[in-house]
Amino acid sequence: MTYMEWFEAHAKKHEEIIKILTHLSDDEVIDYFIYENMQEKHPDFCLLYEENTKCHDIKELNCYFCACNHFRFADDGLKKEGDRTVYSLCSIDAKEGKTYESEDAIHQDCSACLIPHKRSVIKKYFSRDWREVMKEYNSYNKLNNHTIIGS
Ligand code: SF4
Repeated sequence: MTYMEWFEAHAKKHEEIIKILTHLSDDEVIDYFIYENMQEKHPDFCLLYEENTKCHDIKELNCYFCACNHFRFADDGLKKEGDRTVYSLCSIDAKEGKTYESEDAIHQDCSACLIPHKRSVIKKYFSRDWREVMKEYNSYNKLNNHTIIGS
């Protein structure tokens, strides 16, 4: 699954859930996306639910964003670093962020970063429109006047 395929599939799932929560306030919507409630009510929202595991082993894990609004990606690559292509990066260079690196590729590794799962962060960037929250996913290239590699 490419980054974009995951992005589109997740946006659709999120949209379908938001449609049935119009009776809830924004705070209640955020609480609704607590891991345990989502696992019970929307088991297909995340593959980890059926494995009863969490992407981050924290008590109050919130699945509202799942992805992160600081995450930048391009399936054709964002930039070159030597012979390797950078496919994703963190736009705020979070200290918990790491990278997966192979001979020819570099991907952002967010496995140790809790930023998008914190209630305070979700509240700060909250929108019922998940695409609106994530709209900057491809802004890296515009920002740096880079042409997407291979575009
Ligand atoms: S390292 Fe953290 S802040 Fe940066 S993109 Fe990943 S989850 Fe977001």
